[in-house]
Amino acid sequence: MSEPFIKIENLSYLYEDDSVDNSPALEGLSLEITKGEFVAVLGHNGSGKSTLAKLLNMILTPTKGKIIIDGKDITSEALSDDDVLSLRRTVGMVFQNPDNQLVATIVEDDVAFGLENLGIPSDEIRRRVDEALSDFGMLEYAKHEPHRLSGGQKQRVAIAGVMAMRPECVIFDESTAMLDPLGRKEVLDSILKLNREKQVTVIMITHYMDEAALADRIVVLNDGKMLIDGTPSEVFEKERMLLDAGLAIPQCTELVHRLRDSGIVLDGDCVDLDDCVELIANSIKII
Ligand code: ADP
Repeated sequence: MSEPFIKIENLSYLYEDDSVDNSPALEGLSLEITKGEFVAVLGHNGSGKSTLAKLLNMILTPTKGKIIIDGKDITSEALSDDDVLSLRRTVGMVFQNPDNQLVATIVEDDVAFGLENLGIPSDEIRRRVDEALSDFGMLEYAKHEPHRLSGGQKQRVAIAGVMAMRPECVIFDESTAMLDPLGRKEVLDSILKLNREKQVTVIMITHYMDEAALADRIVVLNDGKMLIDGTPSEVFEKERMLLDAGLAIPQCTELVHRLRDSGIVLDGDCVDLDDCVELIANSIKII
């Protein structure tokens, strides 16, 4: 069997300045992610999701444990500057607040920013910027000022900037949390596109159940520890466990569970509205 693309072994992190309580933000977390997988990380506030993202992106260094990405131990002290640079290119990150990520005054300059820092030739930069803006539906805004864009458009520019660096994995840290429903949809469509069409590994941190339902797999964290790891339908079956961890299943899944509890036979998984409609429609046809 091939090696996982990301391997997290017994990972713990304790904030040294944690004056409120002294419990680790992450404790003994082990997880493997294969290339091209789309993994959602769920958990209530303070469960350790952002800490995990920062450890994967080398913003933080683990207190204990290891993270291996594409065969390289990113927690090793023996990493060279080139290793660090190449790992930063391998794993891109899109944060919550689009305003904090855009650095230039013109959209295309923003997308080019990371590439210029890598010393990539200007004709190659031009090609990559146009391609990334076009992939995420923002080419017509190339000359616009980022601060005039909607939240969803700003996040798509941020995604284009990350994708222009050709990462193999992108981490989205609550990247839709500040957006309106349209902006959320635009960003989720972009995330699905880069995963499905460009085979980029996606780690999406979210507290929206309907977003997590889009993933191949969901990892649920609770108080810094792994609570559940499974497909969306496996995870949503564990309704009680999720409620105890301060989370709720998607409303359409809950509706199907309640209908089953009231004696209606609905055969099959339900993780989203389409599944829900299909299960109920099939059951009505049978009647
Ligand atoms: P989540 O992203 O799931 O909301 P975090 O990873 O941000 O969770 O936080 C996990 C735990 O670490 C929480 O108890 C939080 O209070 C603590 N924490 C997060 N950032 C810091 C920090 N900079 N200093 C001290 N404690 C922190």
